Amino acid sequence: MRVLFMGPPGAGKGTQAALLAQRFGIVHISTGDIFRANVSQATPLGVKAKSFMDKGEYVPDDVTNEMVRDRLTWDDAVAGFILDGYPRTVAQVLELDSMLADAGVQLDAVIEITANTDELVERLSKRAAQQGRSDDTPDVIRRRLEVYTESTAPLIELYADRGILTPIDGLGDVDDVTARLVNALAN
Ligand code: ADP
Repeated sequence: MRVLFMGPPGAGKGTQAALLAQRFGIVHISTGDIFRANVSQATPLGVKAKSFMDKGEYVPDDVTNEMVRDRLTWDDAVAGFILDGYPRTVAQVLELDSMLADAGVQLDAVIEITANTDELVERLSKRAAQQGRSDDTPDVIRRRLEVYTESTAPLIELYADRGILTPIDGLGDVDDVTARLVNALAN
């Protein structure tokens, strides 16, 4: 199974992608997690990504694309994956198309997890208090939501036009949302 998880910051992509990947026995690839791991180890990639992440901006496409192209060739991704947080720009969609074509595979589904802005801001603020992620401050949260609307929301249309988009309501208990996703992916 090859699936993309899309949706605004705070929609629950990461939480749900991890649960579903475990359930279906496939790897969960989160570009945000990979960037954060590189930032915390101060690798050259982390050094490049940090200034963008701290401002709530996207890491440049060439850097992100190269990282994902490499990650998708690992053995654990051959049987399938949930890609969480990528693609986020049209250039990334085109690059992903080319990676999949090179591998001779196709996406099975693109899931959009939805939630209204008030809920997103509330969740991200709560997470800020619990986890202290450096990009969960009020100004940066606002900027991340803006960047999502400007750059990533249009991709939803693009995948809808391709007929592979499934919107899932991200409101409610984590378990309820998981059940909706399992149901959608089983069909
Ligand atoms: P969220 O969805 O809550 O914004 P993520 O953990 O997915 O959180 O991403 C955190 C940050 O990592 C983003 O704000 C961005 O700076 C960077 N990032 C993650 N994925 C991408 C991507 N596909 N393209 C560019 N930057 C990315």
